[in-house]
Amino acid sequence: MTQKYDVVIIGGGIAGLSAGLHLQKMGKRSLILEHGNQAGGNMSGIWRKGFYFDCGDMSTEEVGVLFPILKDLGLYDPDEWMQARWRWVTPDCDVMFYDYDQMREDFKKGFPNSAAGIDQWFDFVTPTCRAMKEMMKSGPFPFAVQGGEKFASYLRLMGKSLPLMGSAKAMMTMTGEEMVKDMFPDEPRLRWLFGEANVKNMLLMMHIFFWYAFVQDYWYPKAGLQGFIDKLVKAYQERGGEIRYKSTVDKVITSGRMVTACETSKQERFEADYFVNTGNPKRLISKS
Ligand SMILES: Cc1cc2nc3c(=O)[nH]c(=O)nc-3n(C[C@H](O)[C@H](O)[C@H](O)COP(=O)(O)OP(=O)(O)OC[C@H]3O[C@@H](n4cnc5c(N)ncnc54)[C@H](O)[C@@H]3O)c2cc1C
Repeated sequence: MTQKYDVVIIGGGIAGLSAGLHLQKMGKRSLILEHGNQAGGNMSGIWRKGFYFDCGDMSTEEVGVLFPILKDLGLYDPDEWMQARWRWVTPDCDVMFYDYDQMREDFKKGFPNSAAGIDQWFDFVTPTCRAMKEMMKSGPFPFAVQGGEKFASYLRLMGKSLPLMGSAKAMMTMTGEEMVKDMFPDEPRLRWLFGEANVKNMLLMMHIFFWYAFVQDYWYPKAGLQGFIDKLVKAYQERGGEIRYKSTVDKVITSGRMVTACETSKQERFEADYFVNTGNPKRLISKS
């Protein structure tokens, strides 16, 4: 039997849930179809024998987007979040990522022969990351607001990004590895940490962005990532949204350029005015 909704959302990760919550706020009847047996996608965690384990993300960047969106949905409580802290331990050093000046000194204590390179690296990273923090603090990001507020947000953001102009060319044209290649000739561990940190050939801007987030903007929900997701699911359902698990969409039916219906592997068929696909588009088979 075909069931009809205003909007069907494919995927119950953070994107599908936030789309669903916004649609409920707009008064639309929506359904989330989720392949797994719980929501969360890459943010999921599991409980086993009384212990909770995160399975994908370790924490989440806020970047001036997450909290304004949660506020807009009436789901933000600052007491539910703590800042995630990072720590780098080797036989030579034990550095907590609290503050760029403290990290600079702690790394120099651990690697005195690389002190000049460490200074050079932090001379670049510290002001850049602090400027990024000012950008993120400038108010809700354009993606998180609508109408006139969006325009004001772009203007604020452009103003706050001026201190980054000096480093913009390097950030947009170099990789992390290129940036550090001459800084640590005798210390491959620092070349790895400061230039790569597990992501090869990453644009320097993204690389530095992670250093901004590591120190200043990674947040962890005290209830665990799955606890946060479960809170979103509960709110979505209480506000009239429907979510179905173990429902894998493997076919979309199109008319012209519009998707008009989808089918799950259990042969259920759903029609809607609009479809939002937050799953993997390459896995969907379309049929006119
Ligand atoms: C290993 C790893 C670590 C990460 N660490 C971090 C981190 O520390 N901090 C951070 O901010 N970000 C991190 N990210 C990025 C973050 O996980 C993603 O940006 C975010 O989860 C994307 O959410 P999403 O809803 O778009 O997609 P997903 O989380 O992938 O959710 C998509 C959902 O759709 C479902 N689905 C897919 N296809 C179908 C279908 N055909 N039918 C029905 N359901 C379907 C899936 O089961 C899934 O639940 C990490 C990503 C990975 C992979």
